[in-house]
This record gives sequence, C-alpha cells and structure tokens, in this order.
Amino acid sequence: MPLDLIETLCDLVRLPSVNPMGRDIQGDVYYEHRVTDYLQDLFQGWGLPWMRQTVAPGRDNIVARLDGEIPVAEGGRMLMFEVHQDTVPVEGMTIEPWTPEVRQGRVYGRGACDVKGGMACMLAAVRRLAEQRPPGMATIVLACTVDEEYGFTGARNVGRLWQPESDFLPRAPDAVVVAEPTELDVVVAHKGVVRWRCHTLGQAAHSSQPESGHNAIYDMAHVVSLLERYARDGVARMAEDPLLGRPALSVGLIHGGISVNVVPDRCTIEIDRRTLPHEDEHQAWQQAIDAIGRGLPSHVRWEADPPHQVIGSLQSGSNRQWAEQVSQAARAAGGVGRCVGVPYGTDAPAFAGAGIPTVVFGPGSIAQAHTVDEWIEISQMHAAVDSYYRLALP
Ligand SMILES: [Zn+2]
Repeated sequence: MPLDLIETLCDLVRLPSVNPMGRDIQGDVYYEHRVTDYLQDLFQGWGLPWMRQTVAPGRDNIVARLDGEIPVAEGGRMLMFEVHQDTVPVEGMTIEPWTPEVRQGRVYGRGACDVKGGMACMLAAVRRLAEQRPPGMATIVLACTVDEEYGFTGARNVGRLWQPESDFLPRAPDAVVVAEPTELDVVVAHKGVVRWRCHTLGQAAHSSQPESGHNAIYDMAHVVSLLERYARDGVARMAEDPLLGRPALSVGLIHGGISVNVVPDRCTIEIDRRTLPHEDEHQAWQQAIDAIGRGLPSHVRWEADPPHQVIGSLQSGSNRQWAEQVSQAARAAGGVGRCVGVPYGTDAPAFAGAGIPTVVFGPGSIAQAHTVDEWIEISQMHAAVDSYYRLALP
C-alpha cells in the first residue's frame, strides 16, 4: 500500500520531538525518541534493513536502506536522503503544536514545515520506490537524524557510519540530499556560523559606594560598541559571495550583575558570526577578538572563550552536477528548481565536508519554519515526493 502522505505528516506532528536547544529541560516533549520509534516500526513493517545510532540518551539517528537494482557491492549507485527528526520549541505558538490541522491546502503544526513535511515526503518516495522498483533504481539510504536545530551532532555521527567492514553501509553514498524547506529550490551554498562568549571582569562593591568597586557592565559597554563598529565597518565590508552576500556579526545575548544594589563584577555577552564558504570559522573568531583587543581602553579586563559552536558553511562547486540532477527532478515534478544560496545553516556540511556532493532540497518555505503558526503547503509536498522519487531513477 502506498504511504498516505498527509496522514504520515499528521502522525509525525503528533509526536513531539523538541530540541531543548541547550536549555535545562522539563516536561515530556523533549528529544526525538518518539519519532525514532515510529520510524523504526515503519521500516520494520516495510521489511527494510535499518539501524539505530545513539547520539545521546533519548536521541538516536535511525537509518534505513532500500536496495537498488544493482547492489552497492557490485558498483550500484547509492544516494542518501537525510532529514532531521527534531523541531524548535513551541513557546508563543498561536496554534496547537501537537494537534495537526489540515485546512485550505495546508497542514498546520510544530514541525509541519521544518521538517516533518519533508520527512513524510522522503518516506513516501522510498515507499513508492520499494513498491514499484523502477528499472535501474539506485540504492537509497534514508537517514533520520537528531539535533539539527542546535548542535548538528546527529548528522556528524551519520558521517561516521560508512565503514568498509560494515554490512549495512560499506561505503559513503555517491550524493546526499538534505531535506529542509527550500520551496523546491536547490540550495547549493549556505553560510557557516561560529559562536562564543566574552566576559568583562570587574570588582564587586555595595552600590552605595560604587567607587570602591569596578563595574563590569560599564566595561562591557566598551566591548559591545566596539563590536558594533567592527560588525559595520569591518565584517559587513568584507568580500562578497555571489550567492550568499556578505558575512555578518552580531551580539545576541548579554548577562551581568546579580542585584541592582551590587556593583557587578562580571558581565558576559554571546556573539554570533556568520561566515562565507571561503572563510575559516576559527580565524573569523580570532579576527573579532583581535579587533576587540586593539580598540579597548587599557583599564578594561576582559577574556574571550573559545567557540562553543562551530557550524560549517556549504560551498557550491563540487556539488554542481548533483544540483543539476536535483533541479531537473524538481522541474519535472512541477517545481522551480533554481540553484540558490541561503543564509541559514543545515546538516549538509557534515556530508559535503567528507567530499560527497550535497544539496539541500525540500517542500515548504523557510518563512514558515520556527513560526507561531507553522504550516506547509500540501501541493509542494506532492511535488517533493515526485522529485525525490525521480532522483533514484537512472
Ligand atoms: Zn530544519
């Protein structure tokens, strides 16, 4: 029986898989295990070989394989479909996050667009391929990963699965398509990001005698205005990428002081620097720190942490041929299939970094991802199923 696309998406939305995004977790909506169990049942029911790979407690990647006409061991083509199981949190949502609603050609719910809609489409395509077995069909490895919305640790672990001694995945796939809401355009490049914290160190005192202390918040004000200037006059004037525009830097978090009647002895900010493919993330971090060091008054005591998050960029070029194939499949299915660059990060660098041609492609618009009334257009989902199906054809 073919997979019911919309029913499958509704099933997935009903299973909370919230990424705690580095916060302390409470409640029972966190982590991906409900979705993983659902997928395992599905793959088992279809008779596909599958494996789970534990990345953290309650957080498993699950990978299934549909063998093509020519076995991989005999030189058959192998493609990987990759899609993440997690969603962002639901605070502030104006619709029921876990009660999917189908109306006016859309499905509403948390994850409908990012990216359970894309997951349902990949599942439907694999199911259709398994039933129809078109001549010359490639082997499809469907990797459903964890932790895309925060640490990208799931995809990085999948990148370690192919080993010569493995029966399940003896070599790397020939190409990877990562599902994200791209409106059926083919994302061939995206920016990277490096994030870190900076601290100023003062001396605490009673606020009635501030002169006997040293105010770390005042010092941080120097650092912040320096970074504002550096972002505007330095980073935003760096060389432009034709697909991605310019790099960027912003200060996104600030925290300092314990009470209004205490001169604060410590203030911390968190910095987000978006990189272009030709940049090295650690170098970008170092350049920003040098800029702070050059501009600060000498009385300011400060320190910078090493980056706590580094997400690679996706570089266009070696994925050109694969992008053209995906674009053709999208057009044949009624999509636009333009090759584009985007500012947001994805799982793609985990595979592209291993030298595998990788693009990002899926139904839905990034404009509806992470929103208070997240939805996906059903017509795009049908076109996506068709596109993914066509990728497996010779
Ligand atoms: Zn996503």
